Amino acid sequence: MKSVIFIAPPAAGKGTQSSILMENYGYTHISTGDMLREEISNNTSLGVKANEIMAKGGLVDDEIIIGMVENKLNSVKGKPFILDGFPRTLNQAKALDSLLAKLNIEDIKVIYIDLDLETALKRTLGRVTCTKCGASFNLNNPDCMPKVKGICDNCQGELVVREDDNEESFRNRFETFINNTKPIVDYYKEHNNLAIIEPNNDKMVVATMIKDILNCE
Ligand code: AMP
Repeated sequence: MKSVIFIAPPAAGKGTQSSILMENYGYTHISTGDMLREEISNNTSLGVKANEIMAKGGLVDDEIIIGMVENKLNSVKGKPFILDGFPRTLNQAKALDSLLAKLNIEDIKVIYIDLDLETALKRTLGRVTCTKCGASFNLNNPDCMPKVKGICDNCQGELVVREDDNEESFRNRFETFINNTKPIVDYYKEHNNLAIIEPNNDKMVVATMIKDILNCE
């Protein structure tokens, strides 16, 4: 099984697909957004700084993010992993190449989920996220609704709207994505390591495509 780097605009389903890979194939999930939200809930100095940036839909400093990912990658020890939300800039993508080379990690594929602005906006405005386990559900997609309103299907935690899942922050994040993250797609295309997936409202259709790309068994 290959490790995977997910590149996608907000609400493309990275989190949902990551959960499926974790549950079914034992992948380790490395989400820079989750790590930052943990810093925020622990009220660390990084958390306070990140909170301001994240609420506006901007990007946290490359150096901080790269350091966090390096720590995590050091602990995966040969197991397949998912990078969710990293890299988000060309600088981060190049730093990741060096990290992977240093750790002798070669079996890794980049998957780009190509979601348009209108669909991403609709999904973002319907998204509710578990305060306990981070799983997300979508009130605008019958396939992704929680079984009980306001309660997480997986851990019975409380479902809330993420602070940055409002229209203003979404539009900033989408613009940030287009400006900073799209060049990464071209970078990986040049390195012949990119698979592009068309979005589908049925998460299991997307999961099957991903499973085939990563040779999951
Ligand atoms: P996510 O949970 O991946 O949607 O990330 C939420 C927010 O965390 C983003 O909008 C950024 O403000 C910040 N963030 C997450 N990952 C990164 C990254 N790789 N580089 C910079 N900022 C990030």
